[in-house]
Amino acid sequence: MYTHAAIDLTSILDSVCLRNAHKSAISFEGKTWTYSEFDTRCRRLARYLKQHGVRKGDRLGYAGQNHPAFLETLFAAAHLGAIFVPVNYRLSGPELTYIINDAGMHTLIFDGFMQATVENISADLCTQGLLAVDAPASPHPDYEQAIEDNHPLLETVPVSAQDVAFIMYTSGTTGTPKGVMLTHGNIFWNDLNLRLIEDIYGEVVLTCCPMYHIAGLNCAALAAIFRGAHQHIHRMFDPGETLRTIEREKVSALLCVPAMLLFMSQHEEFDTTNLSSVRALLSGGAPVPPALIKRYQQRGLPFYQVYGLTETSPYALMNLACDTKTHPEAAGKPVIFTEVRITDGKGREVPTGEQGEICIRGPNVMSGYWNKPEATTEVLTEDGWFSSGDIGYCDDNGFHYISDRKKDMVISGGENVYPAEVEAVLYQHEAVQEVAILGLPDDKWGEAVTAVLVVKTGTEITLESLRKFCDGKLARYKIPLRLFVVDELPRNPSGKVLKYVLRERLSSPSAQV
Ligand code: AMP
Repeated sequence: MYTHAAIDLTSILDSVCLRNAHKSAISFEGKTWTYSEFDTRCRRLARYLKQHGVRKGDRLGYAGQNHPAFLETLFAAAHLGAIFVPVNYRLSGPELTYIINDAGMHTLIFDGFMQATVENISADLCTQGLLAVDAPASPHPDYEQAIEDNHPLLETVPVSAQDVAFIMYTSGTTGTPKGVMLTHGNIFWNDLNLRLIEDIYGEVVLTCCPMYHIAGLNCAALAAIFRGAHQHIHRMFDPGETLRTIEREKVSALLCVPAMLLFMSQHEEFDTTNLSSVRALLSGGAPVPPALIKRYQQRGLPFYQVYGLTETSPYALMNLACDTKTHPEAAGKPVIFTEVRITDGKGREVPTGEQGEICIRGPNVMSGYWNKPEATTEVLTEDGWFSSGDIGYCDDNGFHYISDRKKDMVISGGENVYPAEVEAVLYQHEAVQEVAILGLPDDKWGEAVTAVLVVKTGTEITLESLRKFCDGKLARYKIPLRLFVVDELPRNPSGKVLKYVLRERLSSPSAQV
């Protein structure tokens, strides 16, 4: 009798590797690995980790910039039935410590960029093992050596579609990062939901978005592997290098956040680079100005907009290239097998055209937040509806538009910044009496993290001194770019700071309070 094939990451990789064994899988900084070589490396790493005690359900972290080792760690975890935890390399020591210990990470693999941070905090970590990639000065075991010394692990620990594959950290409104649990099934369905509308990736994918983020991981790196495509990985985003790679490697698809698109469009080589190989330019993670879409369309690029969250793996809406021509402001229509509805906050659907909260249901929606059942029930109903915290509406033709955010979040350069987290750090400053953090429109970053302060009598504070104070306590992208000192913060009768009032007052670049 036929038993259905398991839906899990290793089954997908096995099948891709069988079909594409001798095709190029990954190119990175002058080296290329075939699918068969990539598979072998993942299995060698899996054996090393197994010998060092990693078992089914254990959390295996990777903290670093983009690198093939990122993906090898992911698939090594999958072979062992372990849970992969990608971590943002821009986090400060305390932020990283919190995530590693919250996840109860068994082993952390980190790169040379993270080395100093990891060495500083290693005594505070719950990890049983540390492994260093491209970090020759590190006292911890070397990643390449671990791969070299081990034979490929042949047996894979069976998992089901419901088993958690990734825990990805995003901050909450309380300022405490929460681990989004994505199952093997979530990741499979996320890919299929988009693919069934239009398989846009083609043969050559450029991964220039950070892999610690859901967009770089699921919509670039894994999308490429699932299709047996040749993936070029950039350690970090560089607009000129991105343009040159597109031309040289004949890239067929890439995904960027709007800030990256802006930097590329302003680059001196933008108009002269041959971009004709690109079949799909995907933009997601933050609102994209229609003028920027037009700039790429004028260069002949098919521009796709995608909307989603880490919690939805991430695709919920997609605007096709043909539709971004007629409806550039729209975030798109629901992807297949994903329901999207606009509600009044009490679960009731609002009429077409009216604003409400965007709610999403489908096989791509997370199973919950790691060890945070209350936070999970706040956003996920029993019948599977996830409240996104984004405000939007749907028009008569089914196009969805994102107009605002209910959640108190700033998106700066594609990175989410949760005000409560920044406010908690600024309250430690001796001159700060009150603080409100908000996002103001910014041509370069989309939104600029802005601090509005009431300072204690007799004290002074400058943007420079404030930024210096935050250095090492917060990741760089969370540190305020603008500062306003005011006599008092506007509040409602129950004492809640009225950030929209501040935002209105401060929105012009020359604003004074
Ligand atoms: P993350 O979980 O980091 O992917 O962040 C998800 C948030 O990014 C969403 O809740 C939205 O606020 C924002 N976002 C993602 N895609 C878009 C888009 N296409 N347009 C506007 N906002 C977006």
